[in-house]
Amino acid sequence: MSKHLSLIEALLSAQDAAPSHPPESSVIQICDFADEMPGGFFIYRADGAEEIIYVNKALLRIFDCADLQEFQELTGNSFRGMVHPEDLRAVEESIRLQIAKSQYDLDYVEYRIIQKGGSVLWVEDYGHFVHSEAVGDIFYVFLADATEKHHFQEKERSALLDENILKEELLRVQAEEYNEVLEHINDELGRRLELIGGLSIDYESIFHVDLDEDIIQPYRVSDREEYQFGKDLQVRHFVGFAERYIETWIYPEDRELFARAVDPNYIRQTLSTRKSFRTDYRIVKNGRTEYLQIFIVNVGKTEKVTQIMVGCRSVDEGIRQEMERSRILENALSQAKAANIVRNTFLSNMSHDMRTPMNAIVGFTSLAKSHLDEPERLKNYLNLISEASSQLLHLMDDVLEISWCESGDAGMEEAPCSLMDVAKSVQREILPIAEKKNIQFSISFQHLEHGDVCTERRKLEQILVRLAENAVKYTEPNGHVTVTFAEQNASGQFASYQFRVEDDGIGISEDFIKHIFEPFERQKNTTLSGVPGTGLGLPIVKSIVDMMGGSIDVSSRVGVGSTFCVNLSLRLQEDMRPAPVEMPPAVLSQQRILVVEDNELNMEIEVELLEDAGFLVDTAENGKIAVEKVMASQPGDYALILMDIQMPVLDGHGAARAIRSLEDPVLSSIPIVALSANTFDEDRKMSAESGMNAHMAKPIDVPKILELIEQILSQRQSEREGTSWPGCPESPGATS
Ligand code: ADP
Repeated sequence: MSKHLSLIEALLSAQDAAPSHPPESSVIQICDFADEMPGGFFIYRADGAEEIIYVNKALLRIFDCADLQEFQELTGNSFRGMVHPEDLRAVEESIRLQIAKSQYDLDYVEYRIIQKGGSVLWVEDYGHFVHSEAVGDIFYVFLADATEKHHFQEKERSALLDENILKEELLRVQAEEYNEVLEHINDELGRRLELIGGLSIDYESIFHVDLDEDIIQPYRVSDREEYQFGKDLQVRHFVGFAERYIETWIYPEDRELFARAVDPNYIRQTLSTRKSFRTDYRIVKNGRTEYLQIFIVNVGKTEKVTQIMVGCRSVDEGIRQEMERSRILENALSQAKAANIVRNTFLSNMSHDMRTPMNAIVGFTSLAKSHLDEPERLKNYLNLISEASSQLLHLMDDVLEISWCESGDAGMEEAPCSLMDVAKSVQREILPIAEKKNIQFSISFQHLEHGDVCTERRKLEQILVRLAENAVKYTEPNGHVTVTFAEQNASGQFASYQFRVEDDGIGISEDFIKHIFEPFERQKNTTLSGVPGTGLGLPIVKSIVDMMGGSIDVSSRVGVGSTFCVNLSLRLQEDMRPAPVEMPPAVLSQQRILVVEDNELNMEIEVELLEDAGFLVDTAENGKIAVEKVMASQPGDYALILMDIQMPVLDGHGAARAIRSLEDPVLSSIPIVALSANTFDEDRKMSAESGMNAHMAKPIDVPKILELIEQILSQRQSEREGTSWPGCPESPGATS
């Protein structure tokens, strides 16, 4: 340090020396040495204005100054004047900090200077701070031109910067591409998750299981499993995960089944041959059994089964529906079986009951053919044939009637009706068959104060006729059958009646009574004894009674007799009916009837029967011809038309409508009676709607149709003569 100082002091003294006192030669040598240094060298004061106290020649060259004076003018002879104003503050601060830190009071700074000519140079400054008692605190500094080096460094820096920018850009592009791919993957992942979510919507719990790692990762869990996996769906060990679930929830009988389904060995073994398997099990929830299903799928790609998905879902509704379906099926099956048994019984009865009259018809017809010349025998055969035919017809009527009742289309049509008339009809029907069997038949009345009611007369008659027919049928000759009309009480517009049909016939066993109203059921002794029947009469009666809102009871003792009681509440007529007038006798003969019928055989029978009864008969093969014939006729030519319904070209309804719309009032009002094989209420209604006066069943029942024709013609006659005949013409089996 002292060496430095003495050197500095020498330099300073040399610079300050007056020309009259030239410095010592050693000092001159030092100055020369300093001036000869290739780099700049200067000394300045560390305090105050940082006055420069020494500069060498090289420094003057750096500043492009010819001499010290020029330098001093340029810099103000201070360090601050040397440094570029923009760099000064940083340079001073840097020097201060370096000196404070440096053990050897050294500093290094780079900065710009402005040459005399105005050019800017970069310089390197190696400074050394020195404290001297003699000269105070000073810096002596070596300064070198670093412009080139700086430019070179700048270039390198900018090249590096460019390279970095390039790299950064590359990274940015790559990052963008990566982001795009990532976004795409995320979208796809989202879609797949939505898809999985959608497909697995039925599953209340879904897990992924790694069998090798023994890990179960939940994705969705039901309330029952939440306590195991927590709300944040934590990963658990697979083996044993279900132990608590099994114990808490699963139906004791199904626990083993479930435990096996989640056993890794069982899973591996089962999934080695197929992609998935399901196991149904039951849980108990709020005391109610619920059906669930565990579904396990192999989702790994390796051959070894390691990655699986496990889903649990409720199959309660499905299983219950299935159970309900099979219950319904079982019921249907047993019903079908029962119906089958009933039908088979019916068919065997039917075949017996049909064969009997058919055999009679066929047999007696061939007998009749071979005895044409023996009138007595022939008559007998024909009687037997007609008896068998009516049996057959009866059977068919019953079958049609029961199917009509069972179809649910049947309805009630109330109209004013006299119970006395009903009684007469029943008597008219039953008396002949009872007499034939030598059975005493009677009708009695008890407290019948209200005989005029509103009901469907045909149905009430049907009930009583069928019950009375049975009574006659199942009573031995010399027996008794009674039909009683009893009024029980009346209040307001209604009165309740009991219609009793009693016999002292064969009776009905207790066992059979339970089945007596079931279709096709017949008591064994009746079938064995060969009494014809279908087992449909009583079901028909029961259906009609039900339809009328009534009830039917039966009491019977085998060998003593039976009583059928029908209870009905009937609306009373508001006594507005005028008293009936006696019908004047009709003049039947010489009246012309137009028979409209497409079936040749039927036509022949009808024509013969009517001619036998004294009518003149004209014919038409279809409705169109009938209309043409009526149009071509003179008013009064045809007294009545018997109209078939089903016919080609124009059917009976169409023909009736056409006739009713004729201009001539006499022609358009010719009475028309429908003759049809279809005799349901619906058919009767259609006939009435198309303007026909009555509807009768085929085949023709001669007495009935003659009675009907007589009624209609008498009515016409009395109308013409100005006598009114109230009500509609009616006869058994015919309605208006
Ligand atoms: P069908 O008389 O055509 O056989 P029903 O339905 O009218 O059919 O009667 C069913 C069965 O009930 C009859 O076969 C007969 O065995 C029994 N039955 C009906 N009415 C009587 C009666 N009054 N007395 C004895 N048995 C009867």
